Amino acid sequence: MISVEEYLDQVTAGVTKLPAVELPLEQAAGCILAEDLVAKLAVPPFTNSAMDGFAVKAADVEGASADSPVTLKIFEDVAAGASSDNELQPGYATRIMTGAPIPPGADAVVKVEDTNILPGPQELPDEVTIFAGLKPGKNIRKAGGNVQAGEVVVEAGAIVTPQVMSAAASIGYNTLPVIRRPRVGVIATGTELVDPGQPLEPGKIPDSNSILIAGLVRSFGAEVVYQGRSGDTPDCLAEMYRDAAREADLIITSGGVSAGAFDVVKELGMTAGFKFETVRMQPGKPQGHGEIDVDGRKVKVVSLPGNPVSVYVSFILYVRPVLSLLAGFGRGDLQGIPAVAGTDWKSTKGRRQYAPMIAKFTDEGVKVYPTHSSSSGSHLIATLHRATGLVRVASEVDEVKAGDAVVYYPM
Ligand code: AMP
Ligand code: MG
Repeated sequence: MISVEEYLDQVTAGVTKLPAVELPLEQAAGCILAEDLVAKLAVPPFTNSAMDGFAVKAADVEGASADSPVTLKIFEDVAAGASSDNELQPGYATRIMTGAPIPPGADAVVKVEDTNILPGPQELPDEVTIFAGLKPGKNIRKAGGNVQAGEVVVEAGAIVTPQVMSAAASIGYNTLPVIRRPRVGVIATGTELVDPGQPLEPGKIPDSNSILIAGLVRSFGAEVVYQGRSGDTPDCLAEMYRDAAREADLIITSGGVSAGAFDVVKELGMTAGFKFETVRMQPGKPQGHGEIDVDGRKVKVVSLPGNPVSVYVSFILYVRPVLSLLAGFGRGDLQGIPAVAGTDWKSTKGRRQYAPMIAKFTDEGVKVYPTHSSSSGSHLIATLHRATGLVRVASEVDEVKAGDAVVYYPM
């Protein structure tokens, strides 16, 4: 048996990021930016008002107060989206809305609350009485005050968050150069599997792994480009590998990697030079990975065990880092936090346990509880959804007692 770390190194060895593509802004969410974003526009693009109010010459309202207000004649109106080239003359004010360009000649904006005009929708008045003086530049947002055109605003390697998308839009982009999303093929194996919702003949079970794996793939920002369910014959599986490899960067299989008489992934993989390992972990001991060569195109295959909880744990431990590397994020090793067992449960001596658990944040720290009385049984798919994360128990331990220290990985 090998350790989790040794197997992770094996599976991720040689995995590098995919090529860059140009995607429409809204489709780039969650990808890694492939190039620096240089501002094509300054932000703000023009000098504008920070307030709804009146653009003035500050000198005209110097010393104005409630006791000695100043009245100016209204020159014109500039709403957001409009602009004016007319030079403001002394003794005049231009009504202006937030975001509208400061007209030439004006050097400050008096907010509407500091005038005799009521806020909100109003006819353009003939004059305005101002109750507060201000300095030149007050309530004015300078062109380029946030960033200048030509500045690097977001660096290559950043994750495209909604905030990055918004920054990109503000500096003139409608597409972004990003690392392509990994394309994934998902193949479930097992003659016992039928579509969810179908009546079950004796010995059959619903295929719950396909939906789990495909959903996890998408939740980590990758695309599912192929889904298939193979029986337990190598020919059938080989054909699915060929179909999946046409588009996929990565193929994930479930089942058939263990010691059974019909473990088809292993049988076929052995002839193709795959590595099959037993890993010191529970659940998820049998694992496999390799590469298939279809018409000269090499596609990585990661073969997970069949038991659904093993699938989940193995996906988190081994597939997530592969997807992460392909997408340009780096391997992103799991970050655990210290936690305390909230109750007793059993573990398997000699193998490190990764049990789906429910965490409760208490005054005494994070307490964790199994999702089911059989703790980390690898078949407990119907209660896996209750888990808030995985709990790691050291391999020497065969029984966890309430109060014992464990490591919790929030999911
Ligand atoms: P295997 O390694 O193929 O023997 O599978 C181990 C266990 O996982 C068996 O009980 C299988 O029936 C179960 N299993 C395998 N594939 C799936 C699947 N796609 N959905 C649900 N259970 C599965
Ligand atoms: Mg099987």
